[in-house]
Amino acid sequence: MNDCIFCRIVEGEIPSPRVYEDDKMIAINDVAPAAPVHVLLIPKKHTPNVMTAEAEIVAHMLSKVEEIATQLGIKEEGFRIVMNTGEKGGQTVDHLHIHLIGGKDLGWPPC
Ligand code: AMP
Repeated sequence: MNDCIFCRIVEGEIPSPRVYEDDKMIAINDVAPAAPVHVLLIPKKHTPNVMTAEAEIVAHMLSKVEEIATQLGIKEEGFRIVMNTGEKGGQTVDHLHIHLIGGKDLGWPPC
């Protein structure tokens, strides 16, 4: 059995309503939101992170940010996209994903 939690969500083994879905990716609400809007863009094909991913899937996911941000009502006011990578980068799920976060004033730097 695949023990990758995002693969299991993609396959429907773990229910998670889709904010967006196409043949290459899904977007779901983060289970522990860091802001009023916090969704995860997740490729359907497993790959651990941005370094192992094919450029085409990263480009595809980024190309959908405007549409999803518009749908969530945060396009005009602004938002943040984040790809935590590796242990020191704060990555806790080793399946590529982009955080799309907004709905409040976001601080910088993030730590
Ligand atoms: P990262 O720490 O950058 O790897 O991000 C992983 C994110 O996945 C975290 O923000 C978690 O809250 C989120 N997460 C973990 N399990 C689930 C789940 N079952 N459904 C939705 N989000 C999840």
